[in-house]
Amino acid sequence: MGYRLGVLLGDGIGAEVVPEAVRVAKAAVKAAGVDVEWVDMPIGRAAYDAFGTTLPDGTIEKLAGLDGWVLGPQAVPRAHSGVDEKRINPSAVLRKHFDLHANIRPAKSYPSLPGVHRDVDLVIVRENNEGFPPDRNMFAGAGEFMPSEDVAMSVRVITRRACSRLARVAFDLARSRRKHVTAVHKDTVFKLSCGLFTGACAKVAEEHPDIAFDEVLVDAMAMELVRNPRRFDVIVTTNLFGDILSDLAAGLVGGLGMAPALQMGPAHAMAQATHGTAPDIAGKAIANPYAEIMSVKMLLDWLGATKADGAMTAAAKAIEGAVEKTIAEGRALTPDLGGGATTREVGRAVAEDIPPRLAPGACPRG
Ligand code: ATP
Repeated sequence: MGYRLGVLLGDGIGAEVVPEAVRVAKAAVKAAGVDVEWVDMPIGRAAYDAFGTTLPDGTIEKLAGLDGWVLGPQAVPRAHSGVDEKRINPSAVLRKHFDLHANIRPAKSYPSLPGVHRDVDLVIVRENNEGFPPDRNMFAGAGEFMPSEDVAMSVRVITRRACSRLARVAFDLARSRRKHVTAVHKDTVFKLSCGLFTGACAKVAEEHPDIAFDEVLVDAMAMELVRNPRRFDVIVTTNLFGDILSDLAAGLVGGLGMAPALQMGPAHAMAQATHGTAPDIAGKAIANPYAEIMSVKMLLDWLGATKADGAMTAAAKAIEGAVEKTIAEGRALTPDLGGGATTREVGRAVAEDIPPRLAPGACPRG
């Protein structure tokens, strides 16, 4: 089976970490005997400087014809006032257009790396297209506005449909893990919006009697994640809470350089690590590429499951194995992990740890 996968570098450290993730993925698919054509496309600030827009014409149409893509973080030039279509946040547009409603963000500790805890293994399932973010939660207009010079307002959108389908993703994921879903909200204050969210999750929980379900208030969750993260398996939550908690969870396992993510919907998936453009370290060749490498691994896993392609699943598994080996041996660690390796040295080390030939793996449930 042949695939076409997009590569959108983005800005800042995106131009450094994405090529390393692609290098590793190329080694893995080659070893698995999977044919992949990689399609480069500009996006973000780099596209704005070259073409006058952060999302060049035809990007969406081209992406629609691909099997998936890797997206680096983007820097978006500030609009002078209001909404400027040429300076739009491209990842928000892509999430919405392709219905990438679920943002899957694992946090897993590696025993050889320093961390607050040694055995964190949880996944945050974050709603991606409604909630508070004003650049995607409206059909028309923006969810943030100023009625007067001194008053600013944000609208939070919560729909039963989005909550229910997100909860289904969380329960499906939990079935292949430790069979425990925790819904995080604040329905003591946001009685209607968080109440709708938690009610929808509880209803989906009734359809999954084999999976344990509980609820934790978001403030308590911030503390519990620091004190006792082992308690949690799959955490499902609304957009902004998920955004904040996933950085917190990343902090437990080595930082944003260790925080991968896959944004997925019914028909499309996009690998995009949790971190941003990291302007403080961009251009220094020290960005940690593990988050982006593992994001691409998640994309290959998703492809293996949705296309029932054991060879692609084997490629994803090989990436995971190579990452674990490289980290355990402490051979290639960037400064954020206490090492002295460059971004490229890490990518090369992981790619070299992919066995030259792979047997097809069992496809995970899609
Ligand atoms: P943006 O505005 O694009 O989101 P930011 O600086 O607000 O950028 P991040 O890019 O997520 O946010 O960076 C937050 C911190 O984490 C920075 O100190 C950055 O250097 C660090 N960081 C993020 N990603 C990585 C990485 N891959 N490797 C090492 N450090 C990283």
